[in-house]
Amino acid sequence: MTIALIAHDKKKELMVQLCIAYCATPPSHNLCATGTTGKLVSEATGLPVTRFLSGPQGGDQQIGARIGYNEIDLVLFFRDPVTAGDREPDLQPLLKLCDNYNIPIATNVATAEVLIQGLARGDLGWRDIVNPKNGVIL
Ligand code: PGA
Repeated sequence: MTIALIAHDKKKELMVQLCIAYCATPPSHNLCATGTTGKLVSEATGLPVTRFLSGPQGGDQQIGARIGYNEIDLVLFFRDPVTAGDREPDLQPLLKLCDNYNIPIATNVATAEVLIQGLARGDLGWRDIVNPKNGVIL
């Protein structure tokens, strides 16, 4: 499974702490991230992280494109709802893509924890019975 990580500036430390807490769970997953988020997570955990461009330079769109190619299985996008300001719209295209392709996405740490634990238990089987092209049950 490939997990995409994005965190607005005030949420980056939280993302790092979550990744430290769960860096062994599950051990075989691939991580990718927008530029700065990926750098901080990689430095803190020692895990390899495929880094895309920084969010404001198009990293979000690069992750979105990979969702479209069915290369992302889970998105953790820790947005800052208080001070994100003009970054707030960054989330909307990813939400749309995740809904279109039935990719779980967490926008806060509580949801992220539930999804990570579900992933570790193999709970995310629903996607396998829904056609990603039209949302119809196979
Ligand atoms: P960054 O991008 O990880 O490169 O900072 C995320 C963001 O949009 O803040």
